[in-house]
Amino acid sequence: MARLLLTLVSGFILVSFAPPLSPQEGCRRCDKRGVVPCSKHTEEIIAAEGRVHFCSVVAGCKECGGALVVDCKRCDGGPDNAAMEARRAAVAEWMKQNEIEAHFGRPVARCETDHCELVIDLKGSFKVGRTKVDAHELMHLVADDTSHVSQRVVEHYAVEEDDIFAKMRMWIWETAADHMSAVETFMHTSARGDFKMLGKDPVFSVWREPGLFSSPGAIRTVFTHNVGHMLISNLYRERDVGPIGGGWYDAGAGHWYEYDRFDSSVQYCIEEATALSSFADGVWRAAIRKLVARSDEPLLPPLLDVPTTAMNVQQQAICWSFYDWIVANHQDKMRPVLRDLKQKKPTRDVMKEHFGLGVLQAEEAWKAWVLETYPTREKKKRR
Ligand SMILES: [Zn+2]
Ligand SMILES: [Zn+2]
Ligand SMILES: [Zn+2]
Ligand SMILES: [Zn+2]
Repeated sequence: MARLLLTLVSGFILVSFAPPLSPQEGCRRCDKRGVVPCSKHTEEIIAAEGRVHFCSVVAGCKECGGALVVDCKRCDGGPDNAAMEARRAAVAEWMKQNEIEAHFGRPVARCETDHCELVIDLKGSFKVGRTKVDAHELMHLVADDTSHVSQRVVEHYAVEEDDIFAKMRMWIWETAADHMSAVETFMHTSARGDFKMLGKDPVFSVWREPGLFSSPGAIRTVFTHNVGHMLISNLYRERDVGPIGGGWYDAGAGHWYEYDRFDSSVQYCIEEATALSSFADGVWRAAIRKLVARSDEPLLPPLLDVPTTAMNVQQQAICWSFYDWIVANHQDKMRPVLRDLKQKKPTRDVMKEHFGLGVLQAEEAWKAWVLETYPTREKKKRR
């Protein structure tokens, strides 16, 4: 024992007084990195983690502490060891901002992206196409969906750093009780149904309600649809244009980003219980074309003062198509249009100023574009 101690001590002294070592170079096993991938995660998850800033599930990994790599056992380090340590420290620091887990007293799966803080607090496995995914993998699908929408919004509105004021907080809970508890604790209000707050510090919360948000498809589409509304409400000025004269624009936006991601739109923000119906089974181009072709009456003008949540499913689909026309023909005007609507500028003035068209002229231009570009027939989407 004494001898061992002596060896250790002299070893220590030797190292301490040795001249600085040349940079460690790793070995062949670790590709000269000094670290190897943590064996606890699939390749898919490691790739998905690269598309989010932080994820609490991998942060909880006992092997890598969320760094996704561990020390190479075959050598004494390499150029990537410092980055691994720094990442572990950053993850540990992020995990401290954790009022949600503190409130529930258990781990809650959450992740953070450029524009969102997601909670996907679900159990079990989910069928996506022909494969099964677990709740963690589903969280990353949702993260990718919401990032896709964020990217489109950034493009459409030429978003700059300080145009968006907050991170979109979006939660889904396994039980209604946890949903209500979260809304009560963090939003200081009660919610028997879904909770959505737009404008300043947007928040969205639902639970795995049977028939509504229980399938992975429903969970993904409702997050994708709503992150569009939330981002738009938080851009430039923290104000939701849906109830203040911009319903036609806001409704169109929610559906457009969902449609862009899934080639269909099945989520509606409608107050009434009749919301369970849908327009053309979510596949809209041919259906809108037909509607436009046979309509003698103006379709848009009656909608211009209707709040988003008071529209029926067909009216929302019309708004989607008008937004589709704006994206295709006036993308450079989306920024000033939204700004003006937030200032409650009347729609007819907004159209005149930015599209150079009166309301009826805009209707004509939109209809002509629909007849020219939408197909006459479309396949139903398989779900
Ligand atoms: Zn090595
Ligand atoms: Zn993750
Ligand atoms: Zn790990
Ligand atoms: Zn909506």
